[in-house]
Amino acid sequence: MNIAENINKIKSEIPASVTLVAVSKTKPNADIMEAYNSGFSVFGENRVQELIDKRPQLPSDISWHMIGHLQTNKVKYIAGFVEMIHAVDSLKLVNTIDKEASKYNRVINILLQFHIAREETKYGFNIEEVNEILSDELLCNLKHVRICGVMGMATFTDDTSLIRSEFRYLKGCFDSLKNGIFNDKSYFTEVSMGMSGDYLIAIEEGSTIIRVGSSIFGERNFCEKK
Ligand SMILES: *Cc1c(COP(=O)(O)O)cnc(C)c1O
Repeated sequence: MNIAENINKIKSEIPASVTLVAVSKTKPNADIMEAYNSGFSVFGENRVQELIDKRPQLPSDISWHMIGHLQTNKVKYIAGFVEMIHAVDSLKLVNTIDKEASKYNRVINILLQFHIAREETKYGFNIEEVNEILSDELLCNLKHVRICGVMGMATFTDDTSLIRSEFRYLKGCFDSLKNGIFNDKSYFTEVSMGMSGDYLIAIEEGSTIIRVGSSIFGERNFCEKK
């Protein structure tokens, strides 16, 4: 199977309303071009350095999603072009994105990352923290950031019932925000969850954006930096 076929197979399995982000981290630009030449243009990277190294060699109409943990001091390198930042996990990061996007007169779509997995190491908010930091005043003052929804990563496990329960929990967090502070915000629509091993479960549980790498581009090297 080649890359274009892998993308078409996944697209045939998912509703047209679900956005597929092809996670190209660690993969060469030739692989990205193979997907691009088949008509696909939404890619995700998890490291700023890799993204800014690759991008100048690639078509400018690619829609780039930053999916990995993002340090505030690196926002400036991607603020001029990034379509969506998935893993926003602090108020400081929200404010930094707003400031850096303002320099380009852009609005950047962001998602709030929730900690939904059993693993201690994964970043993210819980719902109490989010309710604490968000206020109508904050949302009103963010001129260059649009908080479009939530994102999470399930536990790395074969236990599909655990994965499903974590996705259901994340959808519950989304619903409670949608019914709360975001109730009048029509742009608050996205639930980014589901990767190669679990995107079908994620969609059953309400995912609107799936982030798929290895099922499209093949396995990554073990020396991958996290
Ligand atoms: C690498 C990565 C993915 C894709 O993982 P696959 O299992 O290869 O599909 C999705 N989301 C994030 C945040 C990632 O870092």
